[in-house]
Amino acid sequence: MIYLDNAATTPVRPEVFEEMKPYFTEHFGNASSIYSIAKDSKKAMDKARKQVADAIGAKPEEIFFTGCGSESDNWALKGTADALSKKGKHIITTKIEHHAILHTAEFLEKHGFEVTYLDVDKYGFINIEELKKAIRDDTILISVMFANNEIGTIEPIAEIGKIAHERGILFHTDAVQAMGHVKIDVNKMNIDMLSISGHKLGAQKGIGVLYKRNGIKISQLIHGGAQEQQQRAGTENIPAIVGLGKAAELAVKEMDETNARITKLRDKLINGLLEKIPYCSLNGHPSKRLPGNVNMSFDFIEGESMLLMLDMKGICASSGSACTSSSLDPSHVLLAIGLPHEKAHGSLRFTIGRENTEEDIDYVIETLPPIVEKLRAMSPLYEDFLKKNKQ
Ligand code: PLP
Repeated sequence: MIYLDNAATTPVRPEVFEEMKPYFTEHFGNASSIYSIAKDSKKAMDKARKQVADAIGAKPEEIFFTGCGSESDNWALKGTADALSKKGKHIITTKIEHHAILHTAEFLEKHGFEVTYLDVDKYGFINIEELKKAIRDDTILISVMFANNEIGTIEPIAEIGKIAHERGILFHTDAVQAMGHVKIDVNKMNIDMLSISGHKLGAQKGIGVLYKRNGIKISQLIHGGAQEQQQRAGTENIPAIVGLGKAAELAVKEMDETNARITKLRDKLINGLLEKIPYCSLNGHPSKRLPGNVNMSFDFIEGESMLLMLDMKGICASSGSACTSSSLDPSHVLLAIGLPHEKAHGSLRFTIGRENTEEDIDYVIETLPPIVEKLRAMSPLYEDFLKKNKQ
């Protein structure tokens, strides 16, 4: 099996799993209790909090563990909206956010907030001048994703943060896909809140982080016990927290080396497919994209059919974001960058991870062209195209 869907999820790294193991059966105490096994849990959690903080240039007390990236996004938006509704009811985000942001923004619209969804250009970048124009006196929050999960475009986060701060507006970024792949410094980049998800960087599913700058007060999303400085209730998932801390530390330590290797594989895959397959194109920017992201459209055929045939050859990829791939709607991200519906439907996303090799990439470059050819031979769209081109 060749796994090329690392933006959907990653395997837990063996080093991470080793670090987690004792906290399932040995150090299983509730971090809020006072006996010594509980203190072990508390200590492990403190260490993980520092590891995550160090990875993004934050202070440990600014790291809040949550249940997932979606929860962190929900908390940032709903918590800010609730806390600042007297100051204003306007939020700015983009048309290419993950649904954890978009559906939360739609929820807030139903509750009296106004949301501006910024357009993006053909590469997926927001326009800074449009952002400036969208800011109003009642704008309370700007939320722009760090890197896009479908096309890998990396937004100009530091510039956006600077504009937000000049206007006294809070700035949140969904860094679920960027974390571990792009250098993040919350202070230099003027980031007030930032979402992370463990399972995208070699930790387990069901653990997330919301970084929240000291002094920022947003309302609670999960009410109950006094965990996480009385701001996020729920008995802490110590093994998952320990794993996320380790994964964050390793990802940052190895970032330069891993990125150099993965970027080479990415470019080999892009160039190999562009060379071997006619009528296909790259989606997103050629270089300002996540190191492992390859998103391409193949004219006249459906992404889903390609996926099924790739699966039969042992290759796992995706035809959109993991969360939308069960829906038949074309990807909102691909439509936002201006692709027509047919091209959006004929797209594939390969996301390369730290375990992929050059042989994996060679195998895809060898396997996909005959699949595309076979599907085109059955495609009425392709038949029409050939007829028209003969005349
Ligand atoms: N934000 C982005 C950009 C994502 O890619 C994802 C997951 O695909 C999420 C948020 C949600 O994270 P989680 O799966 O931890 O809820």
